[in-house]
Amino acid sequence: MFHTTILWFRRDLRLDDNPALTHALTNSARIIPVYIHAPDDETPWAPGAASRWWLHQSLLALDQSLRDLGTRLWIARGDSLTELRRIIAATGATQAVWNRLYDPATRERDTLIKQALRTDGLHCDSFNAALLFEPWQIANASGQPYRVFSAFWRTCVRELPRIQTAAPAPLSVPAGADLTNSLNLADLDLLPRIRWDQGLRETWTPGAAAALQQAATFLDTRVAVYGEARDRPDQPGTSRLSPALHFGEISPRRLLAMVVERHGDPTAAPVEHFVRELGWREFSYHLLYHFPQTPSLPLDGRFADFRWRTEGADALLDVWQHGQTGIPLVDAGMRELWHTGWMHNRVRMVVASLLTKHLRLPWQLGAQWFWETLVDADLACNTQGWQWTAGCGADAAPYFRIFNPVRQGERFDPDGDYVRRWCPELARLPGNLIQQPWTASPPGLSAAGVRLGDNYPLPVVDLAVSRRDALAAWDILKGNQHETG
Ligand SMILES: Cc1cc2nc3c(=O)[nH]c(=O)nc-3n(C[C@H](O)[C@H](O)[C@H](O)COP(=O)(O)OP(=O)(O)OC[C@H]3O[C@@H](n4cnc5c(N)ncnc54)[C@H](O)[C@@H]3O)c2cc1C
Repeated sequence: MFHTTILWFRRDLRLDDNPALTHALTNSARIIPVYIHAPDDETPWAPGAASRWWLHQSLLALDQSLRDLGTRLWIARGDSLTELRRIIAATGATQAVWNRLYDPATRERDTLIKQALRTDGLHCDSFNAALLFEPWQIANASGQPYRVFSAFWRTCVRELPRIQTAAPAPLSVPAGADLTNSLNLADLDLLPRIRWDQGLRETWTPGAAAALQQAATFLDTRVAVYGEARDRPDQPGTSRLSPALHFGEISPRRLLAMVVERHGDPTAAPVEHFVRELGWREFSYHLLYHFPQTPSLPLDGRFADFRWRTEGADALLDVWQHGQTGIPLVDAGMRELWHTGWMHNRVRMVVASLLTKHLRLPWQLGAQWFWETLVDADLACNTQGWQWTAGCGADAAPYFRIFNPVRQGERFDPDGDYVRRWCPELARLPGNLIQQPWTASPPGLSAAGVRLGDNYPLPVVDLAVSRRDALAAWDILKGNQHETG
């Protein structure tokens, strides 16, 4: 039977290696590509402001690539099931297909939608477009989910050769629907009303074509030194593909195929470190699927009773969010985030550690700020990253391992160039002082034009004292022995 098929795009904003599209092409006379912008309360994790900006650009690019094939995107806004039914009624569709999402509320919603549409008499199918492995596919010897990354990844590596081949984008898509009821992209109101997005526009080119190009360039050049350069925020050492992976502009299967095509064995030099990071992404989804409470609750239940700071918490959160802590590496990271919607992984760990340990504020507050400001905000990776740093997640850095932001700066931003870029008020300080300007002599500060407490803040906490306080709070929780970080 040849169907009229609704192809429901969500976070798979590409035509390349899109299994729902590939399936639709096998049995459809007409394909109607649809995007529905659901109301914010349909899931508790509606995209934040930076993600909405990216989504707008990415939908624009997807619509253009569909137009190049003689069709276009039907855009709707409202309750997902109601909108799907409206489009089905308007087009006489007999099939609906989509690629799966894994956050708990969306999974629940999609299950209900699938049941409802099947009850309506439609053929419905969903596919894996976002992951190398379904979260339920990888299990330990007793059939339980993994909580330790290295064991999880060893099992994944054994399965890598069996991953389905990435399907190329089609040369045509059977069109034919009347799209007069489609909204315009602008009707979704995804772009900010106050135009704070200049930094995003200067930094990124969203869309599948750009993602493929960026992946190719990275794999042809920088991946060779990724193992050493990936920890250096002052260098362009990583792929910066996280927003493209989040929005499904490029599939991890395609990325893996590109790795193999260029470098052979994906688990050997020079690419094994990079592929292993894709493994952390898989692990994050594995954890979110099996422990769906973790976006708001610690995986390690002991942390539910942790003594977070209450006094002065709002003011501390505010200076952290706005890059005004007086601790240069942290401020540089938070300003990079605000300006570009992205932050280097090493710096994400340092700012998260400062928030949860030196400032003793709950990791959920940091995760919410990242959710609002990151263009790659991803419920699985963000939850895992925050719980890992706060010491309450799976395979986490223990709470008592506290990053020293000064030492991290000296090690990973050794000349201070990253701090100079994002904290220009410190730019004239020499490399040996830029990570801790409060140790500079008054003449040294004045020669560099730095006035602490005036044009750059004094540190919001004493790092040594607040470290001791954090360890004391940990002691109360557990009575454990300390280690230095
Ligand atoms: C507190 C905290 C919050 C984070 N929040 C997010 C988030 O919301 N979204 C997000 O995509 N990543 C998040 N990460 C993980 C990581 O920082 C980013 O994926 C990475 O910095 C993206 O840059 P890149 O694409 O250049 O990465 P590369 O180093 O080039 O890595 C390639 C890809 O692997 C994946 N990856 C890399 N590191 C990790 C990791 N530690 N965990 C999971 N996946 C990883 C990403 O998809 C990334 O694009 C967070 C990390 C921390 C410590």
